[in-house]
Amino acid sequence: AALFGAPGAGGADNHAAFVRAQAVLPGGVSSPVRAYGSVGGDPRFLASARGPYVTDVAGREYVDLVCSWGPALLGHAHPDVVAAVQEAAARGLSFGAPTLGEVELAEEIRRRVPAAERVRLVSTGTEATMTAIRLARGVTGRDVVVKFAGCYHGHVDALLAEAGSGVATLALPGSAGVTEATAAETLVLPYNDLAAVEAAFAERGSEIAAVITEASPANMGVVPPAEGFNEGLRRITAAHGALLVLDEVLTGFRVGPSGWWGLENAALRGQGADGYTPDLFTFGKVVGGGMPVAAVGGPATVMDQLAPLGPVYQAGTLSGNPVAVAAGLATLRLADDAVYARVDEVAGVLSSAVGAALDAAGLPHRVQRAGSLFSVFFGDLAASAGVRDYAQAQAQETFRYRAFFHAMLDAGVSLPPSVFEAWFVSAAHDDAAVTRILDAFPAAARAAAK
Ligand code: PLP
Repeated sequence: AALFGAPGAGGADNHAAFVRAQAVLPGGVSSPVRAYGSVGGDPRFLASARGPYVTDVAGREYVDLVCSWGPALLGHAHPDVVAAVQEAAARGLSFGAPTLGEVELAEEIRRRVPAAERVRLVSTGTEATMTAIRLARGVTGRDVVVKFAGCYHGHVDALLAEAGSGVATLALPGSAGVTEATAAETLVLPYNDLAAVEAAFAERGSEIAAVITEASPANMGVVPPAEGFNEGLRRITAAHGALLVLDEVLTGFRVGPSGWWGLENAALRGQGADGYTPDLFTFGKVVGGGMPVAAVGGPATVMDQLAPLGPVYQAGTLSGNPVAVAAGLATLRLADDAVYARVDEVAGVLSSAVGAALDAAGLPHRVQRAGSLFSVFFGDLAASAGVRDYAQAQAQETFRYRAFFHAMLDAGVSLPPSVFEAWFVSAAHDDAAVTRILDAFPAAARAAAK
């Protein structure tokens, strides 16, 4: 049989696929988080995906808790999204000229996040954060950027220091190839520590262009902001004339109709507080519905500093690509209250069940959740307040995840191949898919406890 036969046809040898891939792709993958380095074994080469399921080249089907690392909010290959893509593709793949689709997508983003008065479409979350940082430097005339240990903002040179995600999985302090000059312009602070932010601004406030933070971090495991943390960042940055960049690449349009900012502000207003608004938002993942679309949004006063109106240059041959935009627009139009209610419900059921299975196996752990995102920290973390920063996340018994992961995979459930990643659910995770996951937890918990 052909190694890569008809999608879903099966019969191909996954190991042979991996061997062949390693001869031409470094590590056999196009992005390091897909490698199975920290869990061992061969990454599954996928041939197709539908709803809550993915199918590998050998024809084996798994319930998917990766969801393309976030974009698949509606599940895979939603028929209406596929139809929108097919229809757009038939009209032309790329024009290099403005389209009404881009306008409609930007309007939809602004409808959900009114503070995003203007939106620049790009192709990846990395480009979105890179653009936000350049814009912040351009409008402030300052060089230094503050980021938090354990937060991942894509593979932007300035933002790789102590980054989460694959950088955490590989236990790297940063990346080779980032110049010392660049690293010197990045201040890395512990997450959830406003005193450290105050101190940094007291010392170097006049040099700091921006603070960038994940709206609710999910790249060191799920570590939600402590009450008042994001508001505190807003207060401190505003007092010093620095911009606050809220990275919602992962959380945007996934944890709620707008994202984490919307959820948190609704809660704050419910308590009679004013809420907070960052200067810039970055979006990705769900906004492209599985195609390469990401975005930077913010007030016109800041965004209009971008070329062609302003001096901050940013561009892209494939930016606002019509086929990709069609996927994003169709996805957002389908992402209604029922979708968010379903992902919340599934996340609630799964996060309690995995905790109960680990309890029954006698394995100390913490399950942390932010909206529909959750992850498990293994071991006796002795942190009654929960895992609040990267140092605590790294202190867990990471080795336990290997056995847990493979027991789930053997039972037909595909988890992220790293303990530092969030588990993603979709609105297509129906009761049958959820049951398969629930049935797999007890044995996986026992395997992890060994
Ligand atoms: N920001 C956050 C919070 C992310 O989680 C990611 C990717 O996982 C990025 C930025 C980078 O996005 P991309 O992988 O599309 O470049």
